[in-house]
Amino acid sequence: MCAVDRTLPGVTSRATTRGLSAATALLALLAVLGACAGAPAAAHTASAAQAQDAHGSGLTAAQARERLDAGNLRFVSGQLQHPHQDPDSRGALAGGQQPFALILGCSDSRVGPELVYDQGLGDLFVVRVAGNVVNDENLGSIEYAVEHLHVPLIVVLGHRRCGAIAAAREVVTSHAHAEGHLQSLVDALRPAVEATPGQDAESTCQANVREVVAALRASEPVLASRVRSGAVAVIGAYYDLETGAISVLAD
Ligand SMILES: [Zn+2]
Repeated sequence: MCAVDRTLPGVTSRATTRGLSAATALLALLAVLGACAGAPAAAHTASAAQAQDAHGSGLTAAQARERLDAGNLRFVSGQLQHPHQDPDSRGALAGGQQPFALILGCSDSRVGPELVYDQGLGDLFVVRVAGNVVNDENLGSIEYAVEHLHVPLIVVLGHRRCGAIAAAREVVTSHAHAEGHLQSLVDALRPAVEATPGQDAESTCQANVREVVAALRASEPVLASRVRSGAVAVIGAYYDLETGAISVLAD
C-alpha cells in the first residue's frame, strides 16, 4: 500500500511497507521516550515553556499563515527581525519544540525557509528535497510533525527557476534517462511535466506544487483525516527569486 498517490518508481511495495513500518516504530519510540514537545517533560524549565508559548502553541492554521506572511513581508522589505536566534532562545528551546508551521521546500540554496519567512529557532519544521517532491521518507517527517508536534499548517513551497523542474522537463520531453539517482527526482516530477505540455517551466513548477498539496491532503492514514477535521491545513506557495515575495497557489 502506498501512503501517497505518487511514489518514486523503483521503490517496491515491500520497501514502501518497510519504510512505513519503520516510521511508525520511530513515532512510537519517540512517544514512549517523551521526546515530543506536545507533552513537555517535567524537567522542562519555565523559560522553555515560555519559549514554546511564544512559538506555535495553540496557533490556528490562519494565525500561522499570518505569522508567515508577516515574516515574508519583512524579508521582502529588508525589515528583518531575525527572531528567536539569540542565546536565550536557543537555551529555552533545548527542552522541546513546538513549531507553528511545516515547510516542504526545495533544497535550492536560495530558498531557505527560515530566511525567506524571517523566522528563527523552533519556528518552522522544515523538510527539504530538490523539487519539493513527496515520498515516503519525507511523508514520515510530515506525519511526525502533525501527530506529535501538532503543527497546524503545512506549506508546499515551490520557486521560480527551479533546477529540478528544468532537469525533469528536459529528461522527460527528450525521453532520456538521468544519471544515477537523479532519475528518481525526474520520475517524481514527471506528472507535473506531462500535465503542462507546451507551457513554461514556471507552469510545471506550479503544477507540481498543486499536485503535492493534493497528495498530502489525501494521504492516508494520518493526514487526510486531520485535514478533514480542520486540525491541519495544507497550502501551496511559490517563491519569486527576484522580489523575495511568496504567493499562495493552492488555498
Ligand atoms: Zn528548486
